[in-house]
Amino acid sequence: MVENGRRQTAKTGGGSNAPLRLSVLGASGSIGASTLDLVAREPDRFDICTLTANTNAEALAAAAIMVRADHAVVADESAYECLKTALSGTGITCAAGPAAVAEAASRPVDMLVAAIVGAAGLAPTLAAVRNGTTIALANKECLVCAGDLFMSAARASGATILPVDSEHNAVFQVFEQGNLDQIECLTLTASGGPFRAYSLDEMRVASPEAALKHPNWSMGARISIDSATMMNKGFEIIEAHHLFPLRQDQIEVLVHPQSVVHGMVQYSDGSVLAQLGAPDMRTPISHCLAWPRRMRTPATRLDLAALATLTFEAPDPVRFPALRLARAAMAAGAAASAALNAADEVMVKAFLDRKLGFLGIAETIERVLARMSASGDLSEVRSIEEAMAVDSVARRVSLEEIAGMTH
Ligand code: NDP
Repeated sequence: MVENGRRQTAKTGGGSNAPLRLSVLGASGSIGASTLDLVAREPDRFDICTLTANTNAEALAAAAIMVRADHAVVADESAYECLKTALSGTGITCAAGPAAVAEAASRPVDMLVAAIVGAAGLAPTLAAVRNGTTIALANKECLVCAGDLFMSAARASGATILPVDSEHNAVFQVFEQGNLDQIECLTLTASGGPFRAYSLDEMRVASPEAALKHPNWSMGARISIDSATMMNKGFEIIEAHHLFPLRQDQIEVLVHPQSVVHGMVQYSDGSVLAQLGAPDMRTPISHCLAWPRRMRTPATRLDLAALATLTFEAPDPVRFPALRLARAAMAAGAAASAALNAADEVMVKAFLDRKLGFLGIAETIERVLARMSASGDLSEVRSIEEAMAVDSVARRVSLEEIAGMTH
């Protein structure tokens, strides 16, 4: 658990023999499915309160029936009838709409897995944080869009934040809280994505299909594209800054194509502690679910002799400008980070819809941030409402930029 770099006690998966009461936001997605796979392997260990999705009522209903959830919610109201029909006769209650997602998130549980994609995850996850619920946090956008507000809400309520993101979970596992003043830096590794070895000319004409084919991880569409541009790693620098009490210049990124070493911490005696594992999200998710103990997962065990070689290289700032944009947004302040996320959500969708080329993603985000900065739209954010207002201006400016390119 990470709370401003200090460990706290919390009711989690390792504390007692009673089942862990669990809710999963984003249950129909990639992280949601990996979480429920772990739950289904040890059903007596968990008691599932609520599962949520956006539109995919069929997958949500199937998941709710599989893990015998109490309640299922779709954010998209037009999916309600389908959900209701699929759950009829099961005894599982259901609801629809963003307010119903937030209400479900604030139901008392021992742990909530926050795995909605995008800024849409912020309001419901924050509702759970304000209740003091332990959060297994996959939705990095909570920290990118409103990191200071999110972490101070956690401090105020005593909520524990456990990082699901594999790199942050790795760092968490080797981060010696008692030796904070002896930590020199941490390193987040990056696979480099499918275009790690592409030239700029090849990247310019890269298709959505090619960008979605991550070499090591199987993930949702948005994070897959963000991995291809390395914006995901940029977001992770911001995420790490909020989870661990380190300055931006203490958070480094290293490209490591094999995705075996997930994160490292360097100490003042020259020691570097690292966490290794096969690229399978069930390992970091299980670490959160069972924390402070561990639970068995079916993740492939590492065979380092078979792997033989692990390689590392510095990221290329020319082909992957997203890293620079994220560092600049982080230095500029919370509003710039929120705008960066919103612009990226819009650009990723435009790229998937073939309205924008691959290199256009970062180029257009940079223009959006420059416009917002020039017009004074990137002032400080003092509340979630202000963060969401920045988010909506950034979406509008992003759509204007795309429209300007296609006309
Ligand atoms: P997916 O796209 O696979 O799943 C997203 C989930 O969020 C789905 O359940 C989706 O519902 C739901 N959702 C989407 N939009 C909304 C909305 N407006 N309101 C409510 N629910 C919504 O994403 P991932 O599982 O890949 O990623 C989830 C989060 O975890 C992201 O923040 C990502 O950055 C992070 N993460 C993911 C990793 C991975 O390996 N996948 C690794 C580390 C972090 P529906 O299915 O109905 O659309």
